[in-house]
Amino acid sequence: MIVGVLGLQGDFREHVWALQKLHAETILVKTVEDLKRVKGLIIPGGESTTIGRLARLTGIADELKKRVSEGMPVYGTCAGMILLAKRIANYPQQYSFQMMDITVERNAYGRQVESFEVELNIPAIGDKFKAIFIRAPKIVDCGENVEVLAKHGDTPVLVRQENLLASSFHPELGDDLRIHEYFLRMVGVKYARVY
Ligand code: GLN
Repeated sequence: MIVGVLGLQGDFREHVWALQKLHAETILVKTVEDLKRVKGLIIPGGESTTIGRLARLTGIADELKKRVSEGMPVYGTCAGMILLAKRIANYPQQYSFQMMDITVERNAYGRQVESFEVELNIPAIGDKFKAIFIRAPKIVDCGENVEVLAKHGDTPVLVRQENLLASSFHPELGDDLRIHEYFLRMVGVKYARVY
């Protein structure tokens, strides 16, 4: 059971390290062949336009849509969440995989210098999760079939729709691996608790 991290652009290495710390078998996904080997996929933060373009060029986009419709779990962080979203409010023409029934607004929390950290209470995994937001997208609308797992103020920041999980923030940049563990449970992969 291998969990992949989409390795086209962005902070994919940090996700690989997080999965390795949990002793989950992982590979970087850079081709359709790589994608065929994995049972779950993380789409990292980075630039959603670049990742989307490369995913189409490599053929990964089409294969990913097929796998997701067959039930493969996918977790998108930040730019990864933008790529999962059905609608991008402020860039309606931008390409995305259009898989999750959410509307996001890119860069809605401000620029790089306005990046911030908050402690979230996430009933599904526990409290005091340190969430790091970097030029993060904001979820401005969710469909009925979307479960809100965490909010910051009134805004959902961690959401799930069946086999899809998405966060505005970057759990791979902190030491707390509880969201990665949650995703590994969605995939059905064994892991070792590290705390
Ligand atoms: N601002 C980026 C985008 O719109 C996302 C930022 C991130 O992934 N940290 O693609």
